Amino acid sequence: MNVLKFGGTSIGTPERMRHVAGLLKDREAIVVLSAVANTTDKLSEICRLLITQKRELAVKKIETFQTEYQQFVESLFATDSYRAKGNELIDSHFEHIRSFTLDMFTSHEQRTILAQGELISSSLLQFYLEECKVQSVLLPALDFMRLDEKGEPNPEYVKTNLKTELAKHPGSRLFITQGYICRNAFGEIDNLKRGGSDTSASLIGAAIQCDEIQIWTDIDGMHNNDPRYVKNTESIQQLSFDEAAELAYFGAKILHPSSIGPARKFNIPVRLLNTMKPEAPGTLITRQHHKTGQIKAVAAKDGIMAIKIKSSRMLLAYGFLRRVFEVFERYKTPIDMISTSEVAVSLTIDDSTYLESIKKELEEFGTVEIDHDQAIICVVGDFVAESKGFALRVLEALKEIPIRMICYGGSRHNISLLVQSDLKVEALNALHRGLFGV
Ligand code: ADP
Ligand code: ASP
Ligand code: MG
Repeated sequence: MNVLKFGGTSIGTPERMRHVAGLLKDREAIVVLSAVANTTDKLSEICRLLITQKRELAVKKIETFQTEYQQFVESLFATDSYRAKGNELIDSHFEHIRSFTLDMFTSHEQRTILAQGELISSSLLQFYLEECKVQSVLLPALDFMRLDEKGEPNPEYVKTNLKTELAKHPGSRLFITQGYICRNAFGEIDNLKRGGSDTSASLIGAAIQCDEIQIWTDIDGMHNNDPRYVKNTESIQQLSFDEAAELAYFGAKILHPSSIGPARKFNIPVRLLNTMKPEAPGTLITRQHHKTGQIKAVAAKDGIMAIKIKSSRMLLAYGFLRRVFEVFERYKTPIDMISTSEVAVSLTIDDSTYLESIKKELEEFGTVEIDHDQAIICVVGDFVAESKGFALRVLEALKEIPIRMICYGGSRHNISLLVQSDLKVEALNALHRGLFGV
């Protein structure tokens, strides 16, 4: 059995949803669906209006959005009876959304509204398969996908409860479920964060130890640079889990950063495929390292803050870095890059929630400077220590761009550089020319 995840654009129109149904016809699989393209953005916008008490505007948006879904249903189905079923489904979800406009609006209501996108898309696909006489079973993700007390996915819970759900349908071969949505440790509706359907697929794949996790999207696999900013990027045929994880974490949007972990743990291959071009080979991600000693791809992550702590107490002292790291640990703020000299340490974070408190505590050690609007440019490959010249090629390509920090040697798969955000696109293009000759 395989796990197949289809992203929002793959089911973004009725034609595309029908196309996906066509791809599923003779498969034995668990299908993980995102919400129809732009749905989660629109639901977030409705929540934002309700949080800021713009109730009338929210009600208007809900109205328009419901009409769009009614049109989707009209053209998705071929028969009046399924159109009626589809419309009933849409009306009941939108009634539910509307019920949250009447009273107090908290994060609980927000998370419930955000879950409606995946609940709608999965039911619509299942109805459509039914209309086409393809037997499938709808598995409610809210019955098996769970977070623990720390807000992290709980793989043990997923495994036990998914197996229970599957056991209710002996003989069925095709299952449809929702990506992204889950319950938290208190049993409330929650989610795996934006883009989290990839993580749902990986957790499900790990839970049933499937043969392959397939992420079907709108591009033919992981490209060697960000196609949103760079022309002539190329699909990479094979990557290791380590390389894919670095790329996902440092901005390659095609994969959610948390989606590699569960697959890697059980050594389940992950294949990235293009829904619009199913015959393209895409990218296969496995434990194996292919093309060792090569630079494979470049990615970039925005919204980074660089923090420099300068302290004479660091000179010839030990234990200084531990105390600095403890501050970040207390505020549950992960550090991405770090670089030290004898009197200063620079590091980067992407979460500014506790920045002011962190700064105050760090000032006890020395002077603290913070640079906002930075971007991490990440060059990924297999940099065996004996091979020469990787850093030179990267720096040569970036010779016209001011670099604030460099990290090399943290792992054999990554060289990270920090530049100002407004130089990100220029840096990505310069690296593309310098490293891949295009
Ligand atoms: P889905 O809706 O299927 O989850 P996403 O929009 O999350 O799709 O991810 C696919 C998009 O990721 C592509 O359309 C592409 O623009 C973007 N992307 C960014 N970096 C890369 C990369 N290195 N390789 C491929 N796609 C990338
Ligand atoms: N629908 C959610 C989002 O847009 C989850 C996903 O698509 O992966 O973020
Ligand atoms: Mg995605």
